[in-house]
Amino acid sequence: MNSASDVWDKVLTILRNDLSETALSTWFDDCRAVQIENNRFFIHTPSVYKKSILDGRFIGTIKGALGELFSSDFEVIVLDDDGLKVMTEAADKSEYSLSDEYTFENFVVGNSNKFAHAAALAVSDGNSKKGYNPLFIYGESGLGKTHLLHAIRHSISKKFPHYKIVYVKSEDFLNELVAAIRKGWMTEFREKYRGADLLLMDDIQFIAGKMETQEEFFNTFNALYEVGKQIVFTSDRPPSEIHRLEDRIRTRFESGLPADIQPPDEALRVAIIRNKAEQLGVIMPDDVVDYIAENLDSNVRQLEGAVKMIIAYRDIMNENITVATVTQRLKDMFKGSKDSLPTTDTIIEETARYYALTSDDLRSQSRKRDTTLARQIAMYLIRKLTNLSLKETGAVFEGRDHTTVMSSISKVESFLKDSPDFSNIIRDITSNINSKS
Ligand code: ADP
Ligand code: MG
Repeated sequence: MNSASDVWDKVLTILRNDLSETALSTWFDDCRAVQIENNRFFIHTPSVYKKSILDGRFIGTIKGALGELFSSDFEVIVLDDDGLKVMTEAADKSEYSLSDEYTFENFVVGNSNKFAHAAALAVSDGNSKKGYNPLFIYGESGLGKTHLLHAIRHSISKKFPHYKIVYVKSEDFLNELVAAIRKGWMTEFREKYRGADLLLMDDIQFIAGKMETQEEFFNTFNALYEVGKQIVFTSDRPPSEIHRLEDRIRTRFESGLPADIQPPDEALRVAIIRNKAEQLGVIMPDDVVDYIAENLDSNVRQLEGAVKMIIAYRDIMNENITVATVTQRLKDMFKGSKDSLPTTDTIIEETARYYALTSDDLRSQSRKRDTTLARQIAMYLIRKLTNLSLKETGAVFEGRDHTTVMSSISKVESFLKDSPDFSNIIRDITSNINSKS
């Protein structure tokens, strides 16, 4: 897999062609890879002197090797001890702020989520029970699925520090898999996933449609399942509603413990608002809490956003927290959310991904059958989900005008009329788009 140290090993193999063993061991023996991310490759050497030599003489060679491996340009950064320290501290912090608050202690329990919460707690005792495996947590966006997944991670890592816990979004799993296949790094890929004691896979609905990768997914799942390792999935819908999923995979999902999370009822919304405000060190007046709970009823992410915004106004604008000020702020918030339509990029990307194509395929003039259909769907969805005109929609695609868009839309509409399976596809892609924007 393309972990930094694997990449570094491969870079060294390439460097070996150009450099003498002496040069290699002099300059690179105590050098190790730190991170590879966004086309930036960080390496560390403990010696300030060696850093200056690496910077001066070898950066180009290393870049060349990375270019050869990835067919793309890299920036190479050499860190000495100080640089490494700064970087690790920054990384710790961002990891911290991202998911460290997603613990069981911070999860407010109510009617709509108590079963999922109890199930998550049950798998956190570390004794994987057959009946609880896999745990399949599902529910709409913003209801706490990712929160519970990380809560399990925290709890297990506290109780069993030696456990190898792998948390991955299913999209990243797929991307890694595709890269591993292309680069011939399947052994490393399998080691990473099949060596897990606990596998947490977020937003599993994204594997739908990608038949060629479902095989590897299935094998990974089985390898862990058969040796009794706990697996937890989350999804925005139950297994029965994930279309274009191999039956044997659906059956596996259904064979474990499904746990749904429903939108919070008013009592839970009140509790969550209080909790979020308290975490920010603020006690909200009861009438304000009730007002928010009555008016925002879809999901927790939105509640949390409202509480943060109200408190920010209090702090920055010295605004009192009253029902009147809160009414105004919530109005502003809704105005904002109406504007946030999905972008054409997201629509094209998600449609392409569903058909294992790239955005460029869809934008291009390619006339392959799958590409044509996916392009027609993308045009249809752009018209449906954004405010773009027919002409503007056509302009998003290479060499297409409004007549092409019109005929694409009527094609899609006629498919929709004829085939329930096709309606499911459109629904899946639409909800993938919505969960992105
Ligand atoms: P999902 O993965 O279902 O889309 P998240 O887990 O990302 O939702 O939750 C969205 C936000 O709402 C997160 O900040 C999370 O901490 C918060 N949240 C959701 N449910 C609860 C809960 N029951 N108690 C406290 N916070 C919650
Ligand atoms: Mg989530």
